[in-house]
Amino acid sequence: MEKVKCLIIGAGPAGYTAAIYAARAGLKPLMYTGPMPGGQLMITNDVENYPGYPDGRMGPEMMEDFKNQALRFETVIRQEFITKVDFTGPVHRAWSENGHEIQANTVIIATGANAKWLDIPGEYRLQNLGVSACAVCDGFFFRKQDVVIVGGGDTAAEESTYLAKICKTVHLLVRRGEMRASKIMQERVLNTSNLVIHWNTEAEEVLGEDGVTGVRILNNKTGERTTLDVTGFFVAIGHEPSTQVFKDWITLDESGYIVVAEPGRTLTNHPGVFACGDAQDKIYRQAVTAAGTGCMAALDAERYLVIQGI
Ligand code: NAP
Repeated sequence: MEKVKCLIIGAGPAGYTAAIYAARAGLKPLMYTGPMPGGQLMITNDVENYPGYPDGRMGPEMMEDFKNQALRFETVIRQEFITKVDFTGPVHRAWSENGHEIQANTVIIATGANAKWLDIPGEYRLQNLGVSACAVCDGFFFRKQDVVIVGGGDTAAEESTYLAKICKTVHLLVRRGEMRASKIMQERVLNTSNLVIHWNTEAEEVLGEDGVTGVRILNNKTGERTTLDVTGFFVAIGHEPSTQVFKDWITLDESGYIVVAEPGRTLTNHPGVFACGDAQDKIYRQAVTAAGTGCMAALDAERYLVIQGI
C-alpha cells in the first residue's frame, strides 16, 4: 500500500496539465495512465489549434511534450489501469490492475472520452486520411471541399454548421426521418444553404486508397444506394466517457459524463475528488479546454489540501 497526496487517473492533456500544476505545487502527484497514455491526441495527426505551437505538432509528439513537462517536475507516472476505487472515507482508495493499493488525499479524474465510430469498411483504414471524429480539429484541412458528416444530435448539428463555414458542400447523413438535436440547432442546420440533409440515410462504406474519395450511402426507406463524391468523412454520433470505474461513487449523467458539483468548477460529489477534461465535458472537448480544466483541478486539489491542513 502506498500513500500519496494527489492521485491523477488518466493521461491526456487534462491529466498531464493537472500533473504539471500539482507537481509544481509540491503535491508529488502519482499518475496512472492506462496502457496507452496520451488520450485522443494519440490518434490525431496535425494539431494546429493548440496555442504555443505556431507550426502545429503531431498529436503523439505533443503528448510526449506534455509527459516530459510533467516528468520534469517529478510526477511519478505508471502505465497501468486503475481498476477499482473506494471513495467511502476522507482518504480515497484506488487499486491498480495488479492489485496495488493507493491511498490518496485527493484524486483527479482525467480519464477522457472516446469518439464512437460507425464500424463500416474504410472508416478505420482512412482515419487521419480524410476520416475524422472532430470537425473543429480537422475541418480546416477540407477548405472549399465537399464532405460528409454522420449524426443527428447536437454535436452533428454544431459540427455540420461549423464545417459549412469552411467547406463547399456538407452532406449531413441522418439515419432517421428526424434529428435528435435541440430545436435551435436543427433550425441552424436547416437554414444553412450549403448543408444538404440526407434523411433516413446511412453510410455504408468510406471509399479511397490513400485518402477519402467518396462515401457509399444507403437510403434505408427506399433501399436506394448511391455514392457521394467527397474528400472528408466526419463521424459525430456521440462520445463514450471512460468513467465506468467511478460509477458507484461519482455522480454521472445519463451519458456517463461526470457531473461536477458546481458549473465551471472541478469538484465532484465527493470532497477531495476532482474531475477534468473530456470525462466531464461533452460540449467543448478540445485539447486546450481539457488542459485548462486539468489546471483547475490541480488548483482545486491544492486548495482542498490547504483547507484540510494536509
Ligand atoms: P447524441 O445526442 O447521443 O446523438 C447521437 C446522434 O448520432 C443521434 O442522432 C443518433 O441517431 C446518431 N447515431 C448514433 N449511432 C449512429 C449510427 N450508428 N449511425 C448513424 N447515426 C447514429 O450525441 P451528441 O450529439 O454527441 O450529444 C451528446 C450530448 O452532448 C447531448 O446531451 C447533447 O445535447 C450535448 N451537446 C451539447 C452541445 C451544446 O450544448 N452546444 C453540443 C454538443 C453536444 P438517433 O437519433 O437515431 O439515435
